[in-house]
Amino acid sequence: MRLCEGTIGSLAVRLRAREISSTELTRDVLEQMRAVEPRVRAYLAVIESMALEMAEAADRRLARGENVGPLTGIPVAVKDNLCTIGVRTTCASKILQDFVPPYSATVVERLKQAGAVFVGKTNLDEFAMGSSTENSAFQITANPWDLARVPGGSSGGSAAAVISDECIAALGSDTGGSIRQPAGFCSVVGLKPTYGRVSRYGLVAYASSLDQIGPITKTVEDTALLMNLLAGRDPADSTSADVPVPDYTKSLRCDVRGLRIGVPKEYFVEGMDREVEAAVRRAIAHLVGLGAEIVDVSLPHTDYAIATYYLCATAEASSNLARYDGVHYGYRTPDQDNIIDMYTKTRHDGFGNEVKRRIMLGTYALSAGYYDAYYLKALKVRTLIKRDFEQAFEKCDVILTPTSPTPPFRIGEKTDDPLQMYLSDIFTISVNLGGIPALALPCGFSEATGRPLPIGMQLMAPVFGEEMLFRVGHAYEQTTDFHKRKPALQ
Ligand code: GLN
Repeated sequence: MRLCEGTIGSLAVRLRAREISSTELTRDVLEQMRAVEPRVRAYLAVIESMALEMAEAADRRLARGENVGPLTGIPVAVKDNLCTIGVRTTCASKILQDFVPPYSATVVERLKQAGAVFVGKTNLDEFAMGSSTENSAFQITANPWDLARVPGGSSGGSAAAVISDECIAALGSDTGGSIRQPAGFCSVVGLKPTYGRVSRYGLVAYASSLDQIGPITKTVEDTALLMNLLAGRDPADSTSADVPVPDYTKSLRCDVRGLRIGVPKEYFVEGMDREVEAAVRRAIAHLVGLGAEIVDVSLPHTDYAIATYYLCATAEASSNLARYDGVHYGYRTPDQDNIIDMYTKTRHDGFGNEVKRRIMLGTYALSAGYYDAYYLKALKVRTLIKRDFEQAFEKCDVILTPTSPTPPFRIGEKTDDPLQMYLSDIFTISVNLGGIPALALPCGFSEATGRPLPIGMQLMAPVFGEEMLFRVGHAYEQTTDFHKRKPALQ
């Protein structure tokens, strides 16, 4: 097995035993990038020199036998909407194409403190708006399982990079499914933490009441390892929760006996792909085989989730994106007669169509006269969706659903129909509205096209219930092989 194929769990031990060096490992990851990037295009920027310098520094610390951090020498990738000091952070938008942040996101800082080696910034839908990574202003990332298909989005670059071994683990962000849906489409593990579990400081804001940063990894264990570092109060983010952070690796017990797994009937509906439904049903049966108990639960307001989300998210986005005015940040049009003209042309040239569509929708929903009918109504329905979860969790410990209704779709298939694109998040969006954590992990493959196409399942838990997700996810993973399968890229 090549070094780049390893997990954090396995590589950290070998690095510490000095069986391998971070420089060797990082070189192997960079070599893999050279081999597959021309086809996958997961990265917007790869900074080889910086990666190798960080790897050499890690090797020196390891050689001195220092008491090093848990990620020492491990190559990780970062979604390009997370600020990295001195390294361009574009959000896959023309408007930020030359933006070099003067500070790093708290999560980036924490991984650095833990010894991580940063290998690059991954592609995304512009400002994390999308479900396929096709909304990037710069490039389209391909799904490593089938290069004619999308890797999901908006963290498609991170998910594609992890499954193709172009990094050992990555960070993504999730506003309505952007970690879990691409994790499902690429057959990797992705966690959307409880709202407030992870600091958002330095994450370029899309919809602040929904955004959370989380890990995308090859195993549940790696996600738990990263959450040990990422979680916790940050004075720089007033919405980060002051709730103690457990050692998440302690929840990796292979035991689900007696746990109650809720299956919501609203998530198994007409129109869902047959193989997706079959794979998720098999996963449920598998967990029953491991001793879990199945309970039927209902999330009655699920039908309203997409409409509610697209009102809340666009309203917040219209406000958050007002700061890109050609004055404070990034791009400014060279062609201007007066200040209004400057604002208009800068935003016209700098933002892509999807971003403009959302700014218009959000501005409309917030405008006097429509606020009550749309935004305020959406907030009320959001409360009902949150209550649905609270009531369901009175009857079960975790909820199990598919990650998305279909396997990865073809590049271009949904770009002309935004509503179809929005529907691909139908199973992930309610989680953000409810503020609860959810874990996506591989549970099968569709064989309908002649090439294996990943199918993911999603586990949801009550707020701050990440440990329960890791426990069930790990038990499932340890007794199945889906996470070991790799795309035939070579
Ligand atoms: N696809 C959803 C959207 O376009 C979710 C994106 C995300 O989670 N950032 O808003």
